[in-house]
Amino acid sequence: MRGNSNIADYIPFSTVDCPEGISFVLFLSGCPNRCTFCHNIELFDIKTKYSWESIEELLSKRRKLLDIVIFSGGEPLLTKDLNFFLERTKNLGLKTGIHTSGVLPEYIDKNSIYNPKVLDWVGLDIKAPLSNPNLYMEITKNKNLLKDVKLTIDILQEKKIKFETRTTLTKELLNKALIEELCLSLKEKGIENFVLQACRDINLKNIEGTDKILDNKIFIESLSKLFKTFSIRK
Ligand code: SF4
Repeated sequence: MRGNSNIADYIPFSTVDCPEGISFVLFLSGCPNRCTFCHNIELFDIKTKYSWESIEELLSKRRKLLDIVIFSGGEPLLTKDLNFFLERTKNLGLKTGIHTSGVLPEYIDKNSIYNPKVLDWVGLDIKAPLSNPNLYMEITKNKNLLKDVKLTIDILQEKKIKFETRTTLTKELLNKALIEELCLSLKEKGIENFVLQACRDINLKNIEGTDKILDNKIFIESLSKLFKTFSIRK
């Protein structure tokens, strides 16, 4: 029996959270970052609403309808039983994925989270250019995060785990020069897949200035040439 599972909520069926197929998304509470645009503030503190056992029962019943289970957050890598959850999910015959800001890679590596036997896909958030430590810190309020993200990329590349990097266009990033700097810093790190996504306000409207950037065909085309696969999520 896993008491403190950190499972705060879930979506039983999603077609938009992972390019690997139809997903079941679990939201695990706790996050070491304090991003300026965070829409998941209620997940900052560790809270458990559902036991792993109840989720596993649900997954067993629904597994024929699903392709993958995504562990999202908050920051799922703070959950110490994550490895156990990944193994149990694989035992059900489902693929596994995580959404992460790229925290604590040394700890995670030691605990074999980034292990292709239990983990099929990673969605890695890039909050600012990898070449801009001040902005990374300003947006996330976590002075260690940029170093951790770079190490996470190294681990994922070395272990050949499928991953997508994605950036949400927050107010701080609505500037063509910065977006270009961000894309170039990813290319320099050997990143081949990138998604640029709109940030929405509480009324689910794109924040002002986003459309001007995302609808600029010439600019977007110049960015897309830097990657093997590039897409936009509005
Ligand atoms: S990493 Fe995600 S959950 Fe954590 S503060 Fe940033 S946006 Fe919020």
